[in-house]
Amino acid sequence: MPDIAYVNGAYLPLAEARVSILDRGFLFADGVYEVAAVIGGRLIDNEAHLSRLANSLRELGIESPLPMQKIADVEAELVARNGVNEGLIYLQITRGAAGDRDFAFPAGTTPTLVAFAQKKIIVASSAAETGVKVLTVPDLRWARRDIKTIALLAQVLAKQAALDAGCQEAWMVDQNGLVTEGSSSTAFIITKANAIVTRPNSVAILPGCTRKAVQSLAAREGLTIEERGFSVAEAYDAKEAFLTSASNLVLPVVSIDGRPIGSGAPGANSRLLRTLYIEWATNPGAMG
Ligand code: PMP
Repeated sequence: MPDIAYVNGAYLPLAEARVSILDRGFLFADGVYEVAAVIGGRLIDNEAHLSRLANSLRELGIESPLPMQKIADVEAELVARNGVNEGLIYLQITRGAAGDRDFAFPAGTTPTLVAFAQKKIIVASSAAETGVKVLTVPDLRWARRDIKTIALLAQVLAKQAALDAGCQEAWMVDQNGLVTEGSSSTAFIITKANAIVTRPNSVAILPGCTRKAVQSLAAREGLTIEERGFSVAEAYDAKEAFLTSASNLVLPVVSIDGRPIGSGAPGANSRLLRTLYIEWATNPGAMG
């Protein structure tokens, strides 16, 4: 079965899926995207992802080419047509292809909507067993990181720097020495006093959907959560660290800049939160 993608109303083999070279996503990174996990053939926490998508579109003044419910239908159709049991649905909306390359918003141009599926082992991930290594890098991004734009060059460079250093994720650090977030994930530490610390939502970070669900699960478990910035030095000294994202759920962080975190193995609370998240994601009735 060939991989099937969606482009502006049509389902077609991925190899035949095309957009114009005048598409503003290609020319200006003038667009937004979402990634939702699929587990057991079901999209996980997709209402949160679609609500963030609506927010990203509103902030950039891009009109959605389809109502959100119809976008959810497209995603479900891609899950079915690609036979995805576990993996991701990627979707992207750009301001469309006007007839030229003019910076100003084009009048009367229909936005472009593309989506595709990717199979991936998410629940039984080996990274969850081993934990991941993190490299800290300066945060080179623009000032509206709450919008999930397709302008990801700083994150691409950050991730590559991490991989080149033998790590799996980069944590980006602001001008005050505080961690903002991962290149494609939310950053958490757990202090020696057992407080789960993560940066509050603001324009400085993307409001993670997984972050929000994990915070609710942690609160339900009676764990202490502190929403505040934390420095790289505080992270080095943490008892545990972990990251969250739709495509990786919860992953323990075992070292930062080559310094082992805690014992250097995945921490107990990080593993607990991963288990709780998977239970919640695969059994959504369980938490109000
Ligand atoms: N921050 C950034 C910069 C990201 O790219 C992602 C992944 N989309 C996240 C955080 C995590 O967000 P979510 O849990 O909604 O996937």
